Amino acid sequence: MTEKVIAVADHRYRASAPLIPARLIAPTGELLDSLHRPLRDLRISVTDRCNFRCSYCMPRDVFDRDYTFLPHSSLLTFEEIVRVASLFVAHGVRKIRLTGGEPLLRRDLERLVAMLAALPGADGERLDLTLTTNGSILERKAAALKAAGLGRVTVSLDAVDDAIFRRMNDADFPVADVLRGIDAAERAGLGPIKVNMVVKRGTNDEQILPMARHFRGRDVALRFIEYMDVGATNGWRMDEVLPSAEVVERIAKEFALAPLPPSAPGETAERWRYAEAGVAGEIGTISSVTKAFCSDCNRARLSTEGKLFLCLFASRGHDLRALVRGGASDAEIAAAIGLVWQQRGDRYSELRSAVHAAAPAGERRVEMHYIGG
Ligand code: SF4
Repeated sequence: MTEKVIAVADHRYRASAPLIPARLIAPTGELLDSLHRPLRDLRISVTDRCNFRCSYCMPRDVFDRDYTFLPHSSLLTFEEIVRVASLFVAHGVRKIRLTGGEPLLRRDLERLVAMLAALPGADGERLDLTLTTNGSILERKAAALKAAGLGRVTVSLDAVDDAIFRRMNDADFPVADVLRGIDAAERAGLGPIKVNMVVKRGTNDEQILPMARHFRGRDVALRFIEYMDVGATNGWRMDEVLPSAEVVERIAKEFALAPLPPSAPGETAERWRYAEAGVAGEIGTISSVTKAFCSDCNRARLSTEGKLFLCLFASRGHDLRALVRGGASDAEIAAAIGLVWQQRGDRYSELRSAVHAAAPAGERRVEMHYIGG
């Protein structure tokens, strides 16, 4: 019998307020961590809630009706999010991704999008503002998000077969609604659309080819994500991981593929286009388990209530909200962020087995619904 885990979100993740360095050095737009990786990408979780219960992220037996989600008062307000985000941009962040939980569940999200879109980008470049959603209410929201200033969307979709999709989201949610959401996002100009499929061997791997057939020929980047040991509640097992190499092999048996270069520094996906002339679309693989990409990981994550995490697999954060609500100045908060990043040495995926072996008792990795994927 598996042990039931009751998670209490905001008490569980230890996070102390980061130190404010004695000498406040103004951000220069180039901040390197201890492995010389620049800070370029900020993921902001705007809610810990979701209307799906995907087993690899929010398994229903843990995140059930007794689960305590964060009270609204503990969430960063839109004004606080924009203030902190502007300090990250000053440190060189060029891309902001809004995540969750399911970000479209946060009320008036368009207002936050408009406030972030108004931020001047680093070095005069336009800020790359994007969002990851499960697509459940995207059809209703796409046009307004675009009008507010959102640039692109990524939609999580684990199957095109309705029965398998309903099983994967464990909320009996129909796939047709998500597919219509993707169409609406394309019409609204939120492309190129990325579609992320988490592949779990024995659960939905038979959907790899149907997904490729469905999106081939459209301006969509279909990415296959290896099932990961994120958090501490999804019961991850290595034998349920289907290596990306096998995913590509399966597709290449039906469609000729040609490799593509990374679209930006720190890109997590390996990419291929369809070799047949005139066929739009591409596929990609994100292989955190079999082909770690920590060496150029330039991502920071801000949790829903303002804790800074430096890795998807971290178990400890840095409480920026304490500084924001504690009266610290922008210069002090920026300097604190700078110091935290400069000391960063995270590379969990490269050290996975060693980290597992060495993890102190009771240390829990942060849950994905809390800091976004
Ligand atoms: S495991 Fe951590 S350090 Fe490595 S790529 Fe993922 S988020 Fe970055």
